[in-house]
Amino acid sequence: MNTILQSLMQEVTAIVSGNVAPHVGIPVTAAAVRQHLSQYTFKEPVPLEVVLEDVVQMMRTWNLQMTHPRYLGLFNPATTLASVVAETLVALYNPQLAAWSHAPAANEIERHTLHYVGTTLGFPAAQLAASFTSGGSEANLTAMLAAMASHFPHYLEKGLMQLGTQPVFYVSEYAHNSFDKICKNIGIGANAMRVIPADDQLKMDVSALQAQIAKDLANQCTPFMVVGTAGTTAAGIIDPLPELAELCKKQHIWFHVDAAWAGAIVFSEKLKPLLKGIELADSVTMDAHKWFSVSFGAGMFFCRHKAVISHMFSVRADYMPKSEQDISDPYTSTLQWTRRFMGLKLFMTLAESGESAFSRLLENQTSLGDYFRRQLLERGWKISNSTPLPVVCFTHRAIESREVSITGMLHQIYQEANLWISAVSTSQTQKVFRACITNYHTTEKDIDFVVRELEKLLQHQLAVKAN
Ligand SMILES: *Cc1c(COP(=O)(O)O)cnc(C)c1O
Repeated sequence: MNTILQSLMQEVTAIVSGNVAPHVGIPVTAAAVRQHLSQYTFKEPVPLEVVLEDVVQMMRTWNLQMTHPRYLGLFNPATTLASVVAETLVALYNPQLAAWSHAPAANEIERHTLHYVGTTLGFPAAQLAASFTSGGSEANLTAMLAAMASHFPHYLEKGLMQLGTQPVFYVSEYAHNSFDKICKNIGIGANAMRVIPADDQLKMDVSALQAQIAKDLANQCTPFMVVGTAGTTAAGIIDPLPELAELCKKQHIWFHVDAAWAGAIVFSEKLKPLLKGIELADSVTMDAHKWFSVSFGAGMFFCRHKAVISHMFSVRADYMPKSEQDISDPYTSTLQWTRRFMGLKLFMTLAESGESAFSRLLENQTSLGDYFRRQLLERGWKISNSTPLPVVCFTHRAIESREVSITGMLHQIYQEANLWISAVSTSQTQKVFRACITNYHTTEKDIDFVVRELEKLLQHQLAVKAN
């Protein structure tokens, strides 16, 4: 057993200190991985140290390395050591959080952490209902259900058939696609989602939203929710939250803010003003497993209507242990029943770093984004989005004129596997590159490397074209 724990510790030390595989991730086919796995027939036992070594090898070679400082990718973090320690403890003790009385320490640690984050967001502690979720998608689903339950008083008892109206809700064209899935599956239908165009800053166009609401009301539809995104996945854009909040208040519509990634900046005095208006939301989604750099999965759902939430999830189950009065059991206040101790990694991460070190980290990544933009601009690249956050969308004249293709360049980047970026399209632009500074190990040197590589590949493609 000792050797197993030692090998595990070696790997933890290597990864957490940023000493990762030289490559960000080599492309592999499903057939190759399946061929390798076919040796596991589960007929005969294999010693754990052998399995461990093999799994480490597979993880290092056949996965994109989120922990690599030049993974400038989607919102997937390199995790903190505190996360790794926390996850180990969770697996070790395996506390069941469903009933408070089964896991008082774990439940109170989550409650303490959620109250800290929720009150930092600006929600009043007395009305706050908050829970950890599997991710942003579950938090958005919870928000949508809460908005329905709140807007249609008989919905929980009588269901959709008795509504007598078509419920509709509003997202910007850059909202996360989890809302497409949610509305298809909760019975209101995909057509219930009104996609509001963005303005030239890629923010939800409030006057277009107003016009659509008026049109829906005139057509006997019932608007019940507006979703503002704080940090769009494509371009890191923050919708005009104060204006959306005001409009929702006037129209009696639930205001949800999806701040899955950028919500973390409430912990930076410098960046927090960008989220102005979030404190007026009825509910908020945040993901600890994005910019807080804790491991998957840890989403968070915050709501200022405790009574709505307890009405939605209350059940009587005689086999469940009873808790003291005034303590709500998570199985009666969230979608999940068996509940994993998801919050420990955020608790330990925040406790270890402290607020000021954590905010410095966010600000440092934000400055790296600015540094990246400057380097690109100096070399004749063009920046396609306007955000203070470290999501950099960019292109080049040679790409716009179609002399060079983004797809071709990306193919080359993925083959060489020295860095990882992606591409997005916006309604305002053709396909552009997208890079997000998402790893706390990333430095200016990494950015310099990326810019040099991009230059090299661009020149190479231009040369190929010329020949
Ligand atoms: C990532 C993301 C989601 C989805 O969250 P998951 O944790 O992946 O389920 C939702 N909204 C936004 C804005 C996101 O960035």
